[in-house]
Amino acid sequence: MNVQFSKSPVPTAFEHDEFDDHENVVFARDRESDLTAIIAVHDTTLGPALGGCRIWPYPSKAEALTDALRLSRGMTYKNALAGLDLGGGKAVIIADPRKDKTPEMMKAFGTHVERLSGTYITAEDVGVSPEDMEAVAEKTRHVRGTRATGLGDPSPFTALGVFEGLKAAARHVFGSTDLTGKRVSVQGLGHVGFDLCKHLHEAGASLIVSDIHEPAVERAVSCFDATAVEPEDAHRVDADIFAPCALGGVLNAQTVLEIGAKIVAGASNNQLQTPEDGVALKKRGILYAPDYAINAGGVISIALATPGGGEQAVRAKTLAIADTMSAIFSRAEEANRPPEQIADEIAEERLNRRR
Ligand code: NAD
Repeated sequence: MNVQFSKSPVPTAFEHDEFDDHENVVFARDRESDLTAIIAVHDTTLGPALGGCRIWPYPSKAEALTDALRLSRGMTYKNALAGLDLGGGKAVIIADPRKDKTPEMMKAFGTHVERLSGTYITAEDVGVSPEDMEAVAEKTRHVRGTRATGLGDPSPFTALGVFEGLKAAARHVFGSTDLTGKRVSVQGLGHVGFDLCKHLHEAGASLIVSDIHEPAVERAVSCFDATAVEPEDAHRVDADIFAPCALGGVLNAQTVLEIGAKIVAGASNNQLQTPEDGVALKKRGILYAPDYAINAGGVISIALATPGGGEQAVRAKTLAIADTMSAIFSRAEEANRPPEQIADEIAEERLNRRR
């Protein structure tokens, strides 16, 4: 039957700029617990869609939908490139995690996840704690990162993967993975940044550190004999490698012109503010390690952890990030294109082989 739809006066998810043939978008509501959530399943070609649940006081439902659509697509690419047999999905709960979140709300969310029959697997993200995931797990088996299913905090694996990817970038640019005496500017000394500093220090790198939280800087200076700089100077300093481990959007029209390093390789999500910023980095001869490729250690640990552990498999797959990065850099050089475009292409090739 050929149905003709008239254009809806109210834009639907189908007409949304971020809609990318998502398989399923669920608008989930529970009146009693006041849950308002969106679960977006982007693509299950490689397996069930794994992606965290974010709780955020979005100013509007439209912004929540934008985030759910965009982040779930990002998970498809991240999981595909990491070699996981998992698709991409994401959930957002519209609430203030400090004021509105209750166990009842999390359980109601779990009920909605259960209704998706395993096509979506949820996990922690911004605003969600391991305790929240325990409440979700009362209603669904399709949850990772609880005490029963996980290896705990994924950050050490994220840091390990970034360290391996950073060495692959060093080999590509400097001809060796030896970091002895290499100057690395690490911006953000939280869970991932601090652990990355540890690896770099052990490898003989000379560290330049920055954070808006002064105690974090003092700790890094004393543990690693690091030099402190102001956070806004982290990208500018004379260094071999810049490792953004704080916020997204650090690579923008202004900063790409100021970067003092030959390599950008760090954990932050969404480092490039626009695709043009990646092109500008390439023009300046700076090698950029695509963020979702190099920071996949965390999702690998969430995906491959088993009730019995699974640490060996997680470590092996995390170490393999080095090979993925090397493949991306070589192909980008041959094609004379920015590495982030090649990363997308490799992920799409894996998806197309399965389709
Ligand atoms: P975190 O919150 O533990 O640490 C972030 C640190 O950055 C904090 O110490 C904070 O004070 C600092 N910071 C904030 N704004 C800053 C600024 N303007 N300049 C300098 N420092 C600033 O977070 P995390 O878990 O270490 O994650 C760091 C980044 O890596 C985030 O972008 C996150 O999305 C990304 N990431 C984390 C994981 C993981 O496993 N934790 C996985 C993938 C990606």
